[in-house]
Amino acid sequence: MAEHTFDLVVVGGGVAGYVAAIRASQLGLKAAIVESRGTLGGTCLNVGCIPSKALLQSSENFHAAAHKFKDHGINIEKLSFDISVMLKRKVGIVNKLTSGVEFLMKKNKITYFKGFGSFVDKATLTVKLLDGGEETLKTKHTIIATGSEPIELSIAKFDEKQVVSSTGALEFETVPKHLVVVGGGVIGLEMGSVWARLGAKVTVIEFADTILPMMDRDVIRTMKKTLTAEGLEFHEKTKFTELKKNGNELTVVAEKDGQRLELKCDKLLISVGRRAFTKNLGLEKLGLTTDKAGKIKVDGHFQTEVPGIYAIGDVIDGPMLAHKAEEEGVACAEMICGKAGHVNYRAIPNIVYTWPEVASIGINEQEAEAQGIEVRIGKSGFGANGRAMCHGETEGFVKLIADKKTDLLIGAHIVGPNASELIAELAMAFEYSASSEDVARTIHGHPTLTEVIKEAALAVDKRSLNG
Ligand SMILES: Cc1cc2nc3c(=O)[nH]c(=O)nc-3n(C[C@H](O)[C@H](O)[C@H](O)COP(=O)(O)OP(=O)(O)OC[C@H]3O[C@@H](n4cnc5c(N)ncnc54)[C@H](O)[C@@H]3O)c2cc1C
Repeated sequence: MAEHTFDLVVVGGGVAGYVAAIRASQLGLKAAIVESRGTLGGTCLNVGCIPSKALLQSSENFHAAAHKFKDHGINIEKLSFDISVMLKRKVGIVNKLTSGVEFLMKKNKITYFKGFGSFVDKATLTVKLLDGGEETLKTKHTIIATGSEPIELSIAKFDEKQVVSSTGALEFETVPKHLVVVGGGVIGLEMGSVWARLGAKVTVIEFADTILPMMDRDVIRTMKKTLTAEGLEFHEKTKFTELKKNGNELTVVAEKDGQRLELKCDKLLISVGRRAFTKNLGLEKLGLTTDKAGKIKVDGHFQTEVPGIYAIGDVIDGPMLAHKAEEEGVACAEMICGKAGHVNYRAIPNIVYTWPEVASIGINEQEAEAQGIEVRIGKSGFGANGRAMCHGETEGFVKLIADKKTDLLIGAHIVGPNASELIAELAMAFEYSASSEDVARTIHGHPTLTEVIKEAALAVDKRSLNG
């Protein structure tokens, strides 16, 4: 067993971990990264953000060709798709990105250990290498970036073929006839959209009183309308109670308004959330515990209760998002090196890559009301926007929420074409603590979808020009 000495060891090679290792190396630390998956990039690159967006794009292209092209005068006869090509394309993108991260480790002189890391004590870790053997790492600092895993229900254990987590839902080799999705959050709706566009019947069961319960109510209304038109069916306030299996047929039993609901299907996706992952990491050897959600407690410098041990990304509190994890990786490495790292938790965009897309930042109207903040709201639709008409995508709106006293923007919500890209302007506005007037005065190119943001900002002051 070889022994190695580092300034910093990062456990977990996801977006949080690999970015932290790069920044630490840039700042002069001798860094190592430990990853047990066999490839770098974590959930996001391997089984999350990237493969899901690859399939969303392929299915969206097919759906547009089938339903939208004729409005442009484009007729396609005998339109078809090849699912194996879609899956291969997805794998190709994942491989390119994960091997790209491995190259970045070499470029930044970071030692990469392919194996499972666990603590022996505060300054020592062992790595069980994937291809056998063990290494001992001595280190001054350790960052825990071990991420999260899908929550499994005791009544529906994953087999990743019929009863699947998001990982299995990215791998179906044929289009399900009927896919039931338990959980109407972001992942459930994105994966449901993929398979609905490719022809599956998709039924979503949601325990809360609405799908996407954390979103602005106006956004939810529009989403439900458009997703229903795309073929998704929703059962809200519905509790999944039992799963029966009969060969290839599944029966999902649920309770809705005191009534028993039975849904026969061939595939079941459980997307009820994710749980921080710290299994077999040896936290107990450091005297570290996790909270009820499995998360590690950290201070404002990402340091745990044990000096020299830090944690970032999905394994700590906050939204489970790749860009949040990445920012924490950079900030944590900078703080370890005595610099003033910074993560603006007020300005983290939240995106749902359905079509139309949803993107938001800050608080929604209900939250403002609950917090007793007096607001002014400006709303403008894509229906009157020239570029949206040219795209043939006029569904949706931009809604801006400003503090009535100061005009500071406190919430921005977009449902509409390319919302995922449009929100970047508002993330910048939030970063610079912009007012609605700042956005209203900013010159937006014409014709662009961004003009709807300007119109919404003008509407806050009741002086919209085109709405
Ligand atoms: C289907 C899906 C779609 C998503 N889409 C988006 C999206 O569009 N946008 C977005 O922002 N977020 C998205 N997410 C969430 C995003 O993937 C996560 O927030 C992000 O990956 C968190 O990064 P992380 O580095 O904290 O953890 P992870 O990416 O989970 O990385 C942790 C890594 O640590 C490794 N590991 C764990 N324990 C050990 C150990 N003891 N030793 C060695 N290695 C270990 C794991 O193998 C893993 O690779 C999506 C997630 C899913 C599942």
